[in-house]
Amino acid sequence: MENSAGLRTWLDKMNLDHPLVIAGPCSAETEEQVLKIAHELKDSDVNYYRAGIWKPRTRPGNFEGVGAIGLEWLKKVKEETGLKTATEVANRAHVELALENDVDLLWIGARSTVSPFIIQEIADALEGTDKIVLVKNPVNPDLSLWLGGVERLYSKNIKNLGVIHRGFSTYEKSKYRNNPEWQLAIELQNKFPDLPLILDPSHITGNREMIFDVSQTALDLNYDGLMIETHNNPDKAWSDAAQQVTPESLKQIMRDLKIRKETDEEADYNNKLTNCRAQIDVIDNSLVEMLGKRMKVSDEIGKLKKSRNVAVLQSKRWNEILGKMIMDGEEKGLSEEFILRIFKAIHQESINHQEKVVKG
Ligand code: PEP
Ligand code: MN
Repeated sequence: MENSAGLRTWLDKMNLDHPLVIAGPCSAETEEQVLKIAHELKDSDVNYYRAGIWKPRTRPGNFEGVGAIGLEWLKKVKEETGLKTATEVANRAHVELALENDVDLLWIGARSTVSPFIIQEIADALEGTDKIVLVKNPVNPDLSLWLGGVERLYSKNIKNLGVIHRGFSTYEKSKYRNNPEWQLAIELQNKFPDLPLILDPSHITGNREMIFDVSQTALDLNYDGLMIETHNNPDKAWSDAAQQVTPESLKQIMRDLKIRKETDEEADYNNKLTNCRAQIDVIDNSLVEMLGKRMKVSDEIGKLKKSRNVAVLQSKRWNEILGKMIMDGEEKGLSEEFILRIFKAIHQESINHQEKVVKG
């Protein structure tokens, strides 16, 4: 399905002069709330109005959505504001109800994408639909699982597809609620350049303060759109309160974002340069993160060596590492001289860390 013509057309056909914007509350709470937010978003860049009707909660006992009645409210949104509507579906019954109620865009949540059984059930229920269907990444950073979801839908003749990067959960503490794995999304984009790629900065950050920066990174990486949770009274929201923004803030975010348009050669050159730089930034960040992790492991080794009174420098082990890295580097087009310089520096830092531990 690589480069399959037509996949991108639903977005191309919209002929937007800005990224696609999907906005609205995490959850539909009351009819009044749903309509109020929709009216406030009516005259803005928002293309689709989102509201979760069935909420997948990690643990029981939280608000689990208003259910099918919310679809009536979304119909009213369309009638009163002209905004198209979007909601999450997680099983056959959801799909049937959403289609009956003429929801325009359906997305598959991160907890559904992890399960081939669920994705297959949804794909079967959606067979042949011309609705837009967006697949969120699975909660774990597994590109095949994500692509598998897209392929299951595509093979049921569902052509208006796209994907949403909403970040990945990790056991380690991070400043994000769900870590963005930019590299993984870039790989997906390289494999399927015709599949619109949308960012969900709300579930990535978990925190409204960081939404702007993460959205700008996405646009620099040529993302096609944003899905941003928007609520009239974010702090009082029944779910995901900390990450929702007001309609006013959403409009401000959209005004402040630098949107790069490919209009002429110069702009095309600048776009490509910005895109490459954004990729370099992502890679540099992960290099520093990995180095930090490596030094933490060195600290552990330092503790072990201290407990056994073993010398910090173990030449045999070090020569083995170097030999292997030189070989691996060669395969990736990296010169021996470069690998030696880099690894000597890393090794020195590692020794410094261990000595600090050993000397207490
Ligand atoms: C949502 O968009 O409301 C949602 C539940 O998202 P996710 O599947 O990314 O957790
Ligand atoms: Mn949410």
